[in-house]
Amino acid sequence: MSNNNRNFGAGPGKIPDEVLKEAQLEFLSYQNIGFSVTELSHRSEAYAKINQEAQDDLRELLNVPSNYKILFLHGGGQGLFSAVAMNLIGENGTANYAVAGIWSKIAANEAKKYGRIDLVFPEPDSGTIPAINDWTINPKASYLYYCDNETIQGIEFPFVPDSKEVPLVADMSSNLLTRKFDVSKFGVIIAAVQKNLGTAGLGIVIIKDTLLDKALNICPSILNFKLINEYESILNTPPIFSIYMFGKVLKWIKNQGGLDKMEQLSIQKSQLLYNTLKQSNGFYHNNIPEQNRSRINVPFRINKGDVDMENKFLKEAEERKLFQLKGHKLVGGIRVSMNNAVTCEDVQVLVEFMKEFQQENQ
Ligand code: PMP
Repeated sequence: MSNNNRNFGAGPGKIPDEVLKEAQLEFLSYQNIGFSVTELSHRSEAYAKINQEAQDDLRELLNVPSNYKILFLHGGGQGLFSAVAMNLIGENGTANYAVAGIWSKIAANEAKKYGRIDLVFPEPDSGTIPAINDWTINPKASYLYYCDNETIQGIEFPFVPDSKEVPLVADMSSNLLTRKFDVSKFGVIIAAVQKNLGTAGLGIVIIKDTLLDKALNICPSILNFKLINEYESILNTPPIFSIYMFGKVLKWIKNQGGLDKMEQLSIQKSQLLYNTLKQSNGFYHNNIPEQNRSRINVPFRINKGDVDMENKFLKEAEERKLFQLKGHKLVGGIRVSMNNAVTCEDVQVLVEFMKEFQQENQ
């Protein structure tokens, strides 16, 4: 994406222009080795360096403690849903899930294939995350799982759940590296990269080393955390291009000023958009309670869910080169995703369009 084209897709989402250009420049001959990175052997020294640097940069950006391992897996987000269950549930045969939206629900349903799953609170239908004191956590559960940012409904946890002695597992597919947090509060963090961190194909696992060796026998080798760790994430051919792009995005984040900067920008961008919704007197409407609203994914309806009006909005937005604004098919409407690569200027241009559209159509 370049020039005046602006991409607000949830995922695959916008990748920084600088990263795309750099990848383009070296696509035919990676660092002048004479062939493309997509043709590079995963057993080569050049790939070992790509693999190691991506790990090191992620460790540095997130301040990952030395007793945590970083793993690269195939299978994207949903592959990781299965991997989490198969690697961890064996401890006690049962796990707790905090289902606050669609992605955590899908994860819980997947996990049911491998053990007993109990929800820690009844599924909320209003986007309200219950206070931690109202959660029923089984102290014997093998782990407690939640999704830190529900990409479809635009719900983000404003707190890290206190799971006491139970290992905490978080899906951060759509908000990893958009804010600082303390990795040591978690047992496992999972993320697919195509939302905010690169190109589809790669799943990341950050795992406390004491949790590595608990997989069920049925767990496939390519999802087995202990094995992947032993092979330094090169058990079989990894998604090389995806890891290469991920590495470039990490360096871009470092050059921009790291997580402090990403967090500050995400607050600024989301405030601009939420203020526009608020000032629209209900023309644009997001129904998530303020304290649980996502900084990254902002779904809204127009004119109380007027589908014709929403289609008109999408068409006119595209004419202005504002792309990928269609809401997820399960909830409809519009969704603005403000991944790290989306600039304040992108959001400014969008809200100006929204104001004009409202004036002309209400
Ligand atoms: N978790 C979250 C929070 C997501 O947003 C998504 C992707 N939409 C997934 C998991 C699933 O990712 P994938 O499509 O790579 O399986």
